Amino acid sequence: MRIVVPAGGIGGARFLRGLKTTLGIGADHDDGKTTITVIGNTGDDITLFGLRICPDLDTVMYTLGGGINESQGWGRTDETFVVKEELAAYGMQPTWFGLGDRDVATHIVRAQMMAAGYPLSAVTEALCDRWRPGVRLLPMTDDRVETHVLIDDENGRRAIHFQEWWVRHRAAIPAVRIIGVGAADAEPAPGVLEAIHEADAVLLPPSNPVVSIGSILSVPGIREALTATTVVGVSPIIGGAPVRGMADACLSAIGVETSARAVAEHYGPELLDGWLVDEADDGAHVAGIEIRSRPLYMKDTESTAAIARAALDFALELK
Ligand code: GDP
Ligand code: CA
Repeated sequence: MRIVVPAGGIGGARFLRGLKTTLGIGADHDDGKTTITVIGNTGDDITLFGLRICPDLDTVMYTLGGGINESQGWGRTDETFVVKEELAAYGMQPTWFGLGDRDVATHIVRAQMMAAGYPLSAVTEALCDRWRPGVRLLPMTDDRVETHVLIDDENGRRAIHFQEWWVRHRAAIPAVRIIGVGAADAEPAPGVLEAIHEADAVLLPPSNPVVSIGSILSVPGIREALTATTVVGVSPIIGGAPVRGMADACLSAIGVETSARAVAEHYGPELLDGWLVDEADDGAHVAGIEIRSRPLYMKDTESTAAIARAALDFALELK
């Protein structure tokens, strides 16, 4: 069975860990029976200190490879921040991005390979040789795509990088618009469209509908390919709230209400065949999309595995 999961960071990674658990997949992504291909969001990527940082790819890789800081949901376990302190002592900007020492090593490998001309997909594969995440992790594109956010503040109207808006300002400044710089000219990374075409099921994990799934869908060709397969999504919104994080700030920027129903409507019946909502949202109805409810809070690996199993069974049933 071939499963494809377009994924953002924390929500995507946790869902994937549950999916691996329910399928009994370990460190090897190809046991000859079941493969999971992850299409990772790279819209969050940013270049800082000469390093290309890919937060969502790394969150998936560290989470599935056992290197994640569990309580935080991103970054490395047992992390120290000596490099960050030293950079601050030089007055290096920015100071709001938490780049840990262990994490820096990942970024040096990536920077070195990219400087040598390797595409991001090849770099990601090389990094995964160490982490053995048990999935095939592909970036959505090898091209540079960056999410920027248009804001109004005392400096007037300007666009800032998504990371500055999200991490530095905690999404507290209202976003006038969210822009995928470079998206229109990007091409899906090698293997992305093939994986979708060959998929028995595509599962949308509870990832940010705008800056994670939305940016993956903005790469020309990906949405079109997905409309031709069976897609089941897991709502990232429970009872009108984003559970963890600030996805509501992204949804209001694109004029979508923060509700399980509105997100399904936003994806639309062409893309979504089935939509899993929490019991709190039971009764949600969207024309052309089959909706089922069950508990969707990813409390621990066991409850998350049950969510992933429900999404997979739902997709195989709709196929
Ligand atoms: P990010 O890149 O780290 O922001 O992670 P994602 O793009 O994967 O998005 C995380 C999204 O998952 C958040 O916006 C929440 O709406 C959603 N989320 C977080 N925890 C849970 C949970 O336990 N259950 C569900 N259904 N959604 C969750
Ligand atoms: Ca992200």
